[in-house]
Order: sequence, then C-alpha cells, then structure tokens
Amino acid sequence: MIYDLIIIGGGPAGLTAALYGARAGLTTIVLEKKPINGGQISSTSVVENWPGTKSISGMDLANNMAEHVLSLGVEIKNMYEVQEAQLEGKIKKIKTNYGEFESKTVIIATGCSEKKIGVKGEEELKGQGVSYCSICDAPFTKGKTVAVIGGGNSALEEAEYLSSFASKVYLIHRREEFRADKAVIDKVKSNKKIEFLLNKTVSGIIGKKKVESIKLKDTKSGKEEELKVDFVFVFIGMDPNTEVFKEVKKDQNNYILANNNFSTNLGGVFVAGDVRSGAIKQVIVASSDGAVAALSARNFIKH
Ligand code: NAP
Repeated sequence: MIYDLIIIGGGPAGLTAALYGARAGLTTIVLEKKPINGGQISSTSVVENWPGTKSISGMDLANNMAEHVLSLGVEIKNMYEVQEAQLEGKIKKIKTNYGEFESKTVIIATGCSEKKIGVKGEEELKGQGVSYCSICDAPFTKGKTVAVIGGGNSALEEAEYLSSFASKVYLIHRREEFRADKAVIDKVKSNKKIEFLLNKTVSGIIGKKKVESIKLKDTKSGKEEELKVDFVFVFIGMDPNTEVFKEVKKDQNNYILANNNFSTNLGGVFVAGDVRSGAIKQVIVASSDGAVAALSARNFIKH
C-alpha cells in the first residue's frame, strides 16, 4: 500500500499532524519508535500551558491526543524505529525494524533526545540513580537526596515535582541566571526543600552499584567538593533526532531547515515540532507545526 502520508514520530507534532492529515482525508500512518506516544511530554510530570486545560499530566495529554487520532482511523505503529529513509523521488520509502512503508508525503516529527553531561559515572550509573526522567523515577526518591542539573524550564519544573517525593533537592546550575520562565523560578525559589547551588558544574558521579555522591566544581574559584546525593537528574537541553535523514538539509546544530509551510529541501517532505530549525520548544508550537505540515502535505498531494 502507498500511504498519502507517513508521519515519523508520535509526539504532539506527529499526533497533531495525524489529526489534520486524517481530517483532510489522507491515508495516514504514524511510526513511533517507543512503546508509548507523546514523545517528551510522556515523561513530563505536569503540563500547565495547554490552552483550556489548567493542569494535566504529560502522559494523560499524550494519551488523549493518541486516542483522538486513533478514533479517526489513523494507524499508530509503536516500537517501529526508522532505520533508513529514501526521501527523494515521488514515492518515499521508509525502512523500519518491522519492514518497509511507502508514501507520497512524509512529515518528520522526531523531536529531540536528552543531552548528557558527559562525565565519568554518568553512563555507568544510568538507571542506578542517574536519570533523565523524573516522572519515571520520582517515586524511588521518596525520603532521598536528589541533585537536579540545569537552569532551564525542564530542570526547574522537574526539581519542583521531585521535591514532593525527595526529602531534599539540590538545583545545580553553572551560572547565576536561568533560562527558565520567571513564574517557574519564583515557584522553585519559594520551595523550602530546594537549595540552589549556582556557578557549579558536575565533574563526576561517584558510586559503586548506585549513585552515592557527585563531584562539584565551582566555575568561579575552580574549587572542587563532593556532595552526598542518592539521585542525579539531568535536564540540560536536547539534541535533534535527525541522523537517519541524510538527504534533508539541516542547520549547523542538525535541526531540519524548513520554509514557511514547513516543507524541507525535498519535495513532499515536511518537518514539524522540536526537530525543526528555529522552532520554539513548546507543546503548543509542536502541535501547531503538525497542523501546518499536514495541511501542506495535503496541498502537495492535491497539486
Ligand atoms: P534549555 O532551556 O536549553 O536549558 C538547558 C539548561 O542546561 C541551561 O540552563 C544550560 O545552561 C544548562 N546546560 C546545558 N549544557 C550544560 C552542561 N553541559 N552542563 C551543565 N549545564 C548545562 O533546555 P530545557 O530546560 O530542556 O528546555 C528546552 C526547551 O523546552 C526550552 O525552550 C524550554 O523553554 C522548553 N520547555 C518549556 C516548558 C514549559 O513551557 N512548561 C517546560 C520544559 C521545557 P546555560 O543557561 O548556562 O546555557
């Protein structure tokens, strides 16, 4: 079968593209490499800036989006990882671990993956106290001491969330200024369980079978100290998932370049969400991207 539209990625961008694709009458399939949908929001504790919904867990929002799309007859293939994408030519060929799919148009909505700090102990103790997902691991931190690394919205929001489980949360950031929104900073600053350790970087994670402590380096004095913690949560930003898309034009940070209707340099290939060069990384923006990309795919097929 040749689909009208293959969407790669089942986050808010991909699922919204599927919604618009299906409603436009396109035969649509979503390929998602993970067993669950929602991308980054599936591991976000709460979303408080989705219009019309004051507060919702990321997982619930993701499930709502997936259910909506499924009700319109879209196929969502979980655990289907794209291994090769032939995107030039009229019919696009997408190779996955479970076989090949063909379509007239493709929307790349693969999002981003967590950046690593890249210090000794990080890889070795991953899953043994080193985590990139507070919603997955917060219940294990009950009564424990936790370090959260980063100064953006993710780090501060997740520090706040973790503080309802852990007995103590250190928020470790390499500068004094934060990238996070003021409302989030104010909330975290008034939280008695959270202590800010600023102008510090983590130079090592120590532990035999699980995290026991971290090495901290003061960025001003260069002095090193050891801090006893049971968990280290890393939220220092994201890298785009674009490696498999060899023929698509990218910027210097490997985000996919697109024009106003989110078409790429290849005819019939569109991009949506965090993986798009210049995209503001917000759920609402990813969803908006998905809508635009799907309507552009429809116009491409029509003309
Ligand atoms: P981010 O905004 O890029 O912040 C990354 C933070 O990590 C920065 O404070 C950065 O420090 C620090 N950092 C980067 N590399 C580091 C390293 N090697 N060692 C130590 N610290 C390092 O990333 P994010 O918080 O993941 O957010 C990504 C995007 O999603 C942002 O646009 C954010 O606004 C958005 N987001 C929005 C919401 C929301 O609206 N509710 C929630 C989550 C995320 P410097 O500041 O010194 O560079």
